[in-house]
Amino acid sequence: MSRVYNFSAGPAVLPEEVLQQAADEMLDYQRSGMSVMEMSHRSKVYDSIIKTAEADLRELMNIPDNYKVLFLQGGASQQFAMIPMNLMKNKKAAYIITGQWAKKAFQEAQIYGEAVKVASSEDETFSYIPDCSDLDIPEDADYVYICENNTIYGTKYKTLPNTKGHILVADVSSCFLSEPVDVSKYGIIYGGVQKNIGPAGVVIVIIREDLITEDTLPGTPTMLKYKTHADAESLYNTPPAYGIYICGKVFQWLKKMGGLEAMKQRNEEKAKILYDFLDGSKMFRGTVRKEDRSLMNVPFITGDKDLDAKFVKEAEAAGFVNLKGHRTVGGMRASIYNAMPKEGVEKLVAFMKKFEEEN
Ligand SMILES: *Cc1c(COP(=O)(O)O)cnc(C)c1O
Repeated sequence: MSRVYNFSAGPAVLPEEVLQQAADEMLDYQRSGMSVMEMSHRSKVYDSIIKTAEADLRELMNIPDNYKVLFLQGGASQQFAMIPMNLMKNKKAAYIITGQWAKKAFQEAQIYGEAVKVASSEDETFSYIPDCSDLDIPEDADYVYICENNTIYGTKYKTLPNTKGHILVADVSSCFLSEPVDVSKYGIIYGGVQKNIGPAGVVIVIIREDLITEDTLPGTPTMLKYKTHADAESLYNTPPAYGIYICGKVFQWLKKMGGLEAMKQRNEEKAKILYDFLDGSKMFRGTVRKEDRSLMNVPFITGDKDLDAKFVKEAEAAGFVNLKGHRTVGGMRASIYNAMPKEGVEKLVAFMKKFEEEN
C-alpha cells in the first residue's frame, strides 16, 4: 500500500485511522454479522450509530439545545434551494457574494424570491472578503447568506457580517469543524461533508428550531422541508447511512485529537508553514489578501502558466497530488483540511523550495 499526500479540495483526505477502522469493520460491524452498508437504517445497531454521531457533533461544536442537527442528502448545492424554500417568508433575502458557491446560492434563490446582492468581491476575482460591518440590508430580508470559507478562492470571514438583527445562514462546507464556532450566532450552519468530514453524499444542517416550520413556499416537496427531517430525526427515508457512519468515526477522531480548539491550533500551525513560505518565496505567491486567508484552502501561483503546469506535474510525480487550482482560477491550490498531517505540509514546502532552486 502506498498513500499519497492528497491536497484535493473535495472529496478530500480523511484520517487514515478512520479508514483503517472502517476497513476492519467492513465485513462484520461490532458482531452484527454484516457491514454497516448492509444493515437496516431502522435497526437498533444503526440507531446507535446515528445517535452517537449526533451526540458527538453536538459535543464538538457545543451546539445549543434549541438547534436541530440534520443529516441530509443532495450535497451542499441542494441547500441553495432548500434554504429559500423554507426561510423566505417575505420572499426576500440578502446575499454576500464571495465566490462561485455564494454566487450559485444567490442565483438559485432568485428562483424563489428576491435575492439581493448586498456585497461582493467579484471585482477582484474574489481575492478578499468585503467589509460587512455596515451593509445595506433590506429591513424585510428573511436572512443574510454567506459562504464562510471560499473553497475555490481561499478566503475566509474572520468576523461574521453585521446582519443588523437578521438571521445568518452560512455555508461552511470547507471549514466545517476546522475551529470552534459560536453556533448561537447563526440561524443555519450547513455543509457538505466531503471537504472536511467524510464521504460525499451527506450534508449536515444545524438549524435553530424556530426556523423549522410548516410555513414553506407553496409547492415545496416533502423531502425539501426541514420539518420533515427534523420530525423524523433524519430518518424520514433511508439516509446516506454509510456516509453518516464514517462522519461519526471522524467526530470520534476529532474528540480524541482534543476537539476543535486543538484542531484550530493545529490548522493554524499547518497554514503558517505554507503561508510563511509563500511570503518569502521569489517564485511562488499567494493570491489572497493576507487578512482574509483561509486556513483550509491555499491558492498560489508562480505568475507563469507553463511553470505552474510543470510544478503540478512534478509535484504529482513526487506524491503530492491534486494541487492544480480550480479551473476558473488556474495556478495551484493546496487544501490542507483537518486530516492533512503537518508532515504533509512540511514536505510540500520542502518540495516547493527545491523546485524554486531548480527552476
Ligand atoms: C464543494 C462546495 C459546495 C458544493 O458541494 P456539493 O456537495 O457538491 O453540492 C458548496 N459550497 C462550498 C463552500 C463548497 O466547498
